Amino acid sequence: MLTAHTAEGELVILTRSQSLESLRERRKQESFYCPQCKEQLILKVGDLVIPHFAHYQQSSCRNSFSEGESPAHLLGKSQLYEFFSHHTPAVKLEPFLPDIQQRPDLLVVWGDTEVPVEFQCSTISTSLVRQRNAGYYLLNMLPVWIILTPQSIQTSTADILTLRLSSFLQFFIRQIPNRMSVLLTYHPQSERFYYLSPIIHLQGSTYAARHLTLSLHKQTVPFSLPSSPSQTDIRELALHYQSARRKYLRTVIAYNQKGIHNQFLRACYEMRIQPVQLPAWIGVPVQGQEAFRQSDCEWQLLFVAAVRETRKSPDQLNTSFFHTFIKQFDGEPDDLLAACRSYGDFLREERIDIYRMDRFTDGDFVYEVLSGRFLAMYAKN
Ligand SMILES: [Zn+2]
Repeated sequence: MLTAHTAEGELVILTRSQSLESLRERRKQESFYCPQCKEQLILKVGDLVIPHFAHYQQSSCRNSFSEGESPAHLLGKSQLYEFFSHHTPAVKLEPFLPDIQQRPDLLVVWGDTEVPVEFQCSTISTSLVRQRNAGYYLLNMLPVWIILTPQSIQTSTADILTLRLSSFLQFFIRQIPNRMSVLLTYHPQSERFYYLSPIIHLQGSTYAARHLTLSLHKQTVPFSLPSSPSQTDIRELALHYQSARRKYLRTVIAYNQKGIHNQFLRACYEMRIQPVQLPAWIGVPVQGQEAFRQSDCEWQLLFVAAVRETRKSPDQLNTSFFHTFIKQFDGEPDDLLAACRSYGDFLREERIDIYRMDRFTDGDFVYEVLSGRFLAMYAKN
């Protein structure tokens, strides 16, 4: 931890402006105490980790985070404290909120409200995140979570990349108003924020995303939002998407050769098409597609198969059709429904005849669909 009380009850905050020497001198003359449990603390001043306070080994103040703090957490917290001190009227470091027995890393006065800021370096269960959020909601506070940049993102030099995101990271993907998703992380060693935005779901835990960074010095409050992707970015995202689509189709064909039972293949068989001949209008990244864990090829083919069974066209479907269709999938029902509706709209707008699997087999809808999602000025004639 970076805060302590003196014997007189005065708050001490460790910042990077204090020299190691002055802190070593100070600890000879003073004692420091935990603001929460009031036990005496050790002021650690070393060369590898930034100066910080720690409890003695036998302390019972275990769950108040201090001993579990990594060097990255201490450094990031200290940098974020300085950052918010410059950009907002008031910041509290490690304040204890007695009503909910929680201690956010920072409490920032942001606009006219107090915002708890958590800099999360270790992977914790999403139920613990929800539980902490529930505490803040009780105080009418909306917390901001900043996640430590994973190495796979930090070391990538590509503008557009295909990567896997753990369910912990997926939990922190946010939707921003211009119809884009964003994952914001912070890397203390390089003093940079890393943005993934937009993020397009490919399959399972694999995503294609644009990769942007912003130095801490250029960051603002509220945080900068990523710009809309350029046409070049969208073309590149479309290439990543198409490559994942081809990979998926090759994989299911390999399943077939091994005789593995698969819904997608069964639907292909019933519609008498080979997976490699899947028309280009099946497997497109429509708005909300990330609601499905499956590849777009898979849920959209099953959707088309289900519509064909009704002998109707996509614009003749009623609500109960959609509700019945999504029952076979895991995910938030409202999100699944929205994705199906987007796909139905796509089929209608493109005037696709779903009973003709031999039409539009090799068009490229992916770039067009992504442009529609991300380019505000995009207009179709
Ligand atoms: Zn304590």
